Amino acid sequence: MYKGNIILISPPGGGKGTLSNQLKEKYGYTLIAAGDLLRAEKKSESEIGQKIKNLIGKGNLVPDELINQIIQREIYKSPEPYILDGFPRTLGQGEFLDTIADVNLVIYLEVSDETIQKRILNRGKTSGREDDQSVEIIKRRILQFKLDTFPLIEFYKKKKILAYLNGEESIKEVFSQVENILRIWS
Ligand code: ADP
Repeated sequence: MYKGNIILISPPGGGKGTLSNQLKEKYGYTLIAAGDLLRAEKKSESEIGQKIKNLIGKGNLVPDELINQIIQREIYKSPEPYILDGFPRTLGQGEFLDTIADVNLVIYLEVSDETIQKRILNRGKTSGREDDQSVEIIKRRILQFKLDTFPLIEFYKKKKILAYLNGEESIKEVFSQVENILRIWS
């Protein structure tokens, strides 16, 4: 059974939050969610908070240096094993992570553009998140994912630590497939 740290990658709205919470409940992982950390930082009235608000609200990524610093701080204070949800999202972030952490399993949930759009618009009804409300911003986030995160997925494929899953399956099915991966992963 794999007992190390895990990276979860999916397009926005791909089900990382749901899955990481199930893994936390059942196996006691610590959760490190980049989006949540950024939204917490955004609430502060600081200059950085304002910058984050502008970027996230429009569906853009924040600069690598900023998120790298926030995640590093979090990793150093989190008990292992942990799940990284939403980090890394770029090749630069992945290379940085290699210098501060040991992760041997990357789970990639693949979800179609149509499903993403439907799920996020639905989540937007209750999340109150500005970036979940407009189709235009959702499309921008999907494009960002293709431009920035596909190269990162290739990077993990080459390292042979990538496990691929169909994120269109039911929540229950995805979780059971993840458990299978944990069982066979060494
Ligand atoms: P989702 O995965 O649905 O987009 P998140 O809550 O994970 O939602 O992220 C919300 C927003 O926070 C992203 O659209 C992006 O603007 C910013 N963000 C999150 N993680 C990162 C990251 N690793 N690098 C840069 N920006 C990020």
